[in-house]
Amino acid sequence: MQPIKTEVTEELLKDLASRSNFRLGKDIAKNGVVSFSQSDVLHMTARVEFRNSQTRTVDVLSTPKGIKWKCTCSSRKDLFCQHCVAVGLIICQE
Ligand SMILES: [Zn+2]
Repeated sequence: MQPIKTEVTEELLKDLASRSNFRLGKDIAKNGVVSFSQSDVLHMTARVEFRNSQTRTVDVLSTPKGIKWKCTCSSRKDLFCQHCVAVGLIICQE
């Protein structure tokens, strides 16, 4: 399994997210608050606070099948939301 930090790139995030979610995620990364409660090589958990929206929690996991993303804003497994984009961008910048 690859460390999350070597796998997550801005290009990957652009591929996974819709254009509008990518744009929103960029805004959140810049103007919101992303705080990591867990920051292991293979598992990161971050709280995402943005303006008046509800606080969300994003989990990023490195698995044998690649990076898995999970956000509390949706139960849809295939949805790569703006919160995932924001957390991903912060991971890239670190
Ligand atoms: Zn979300």
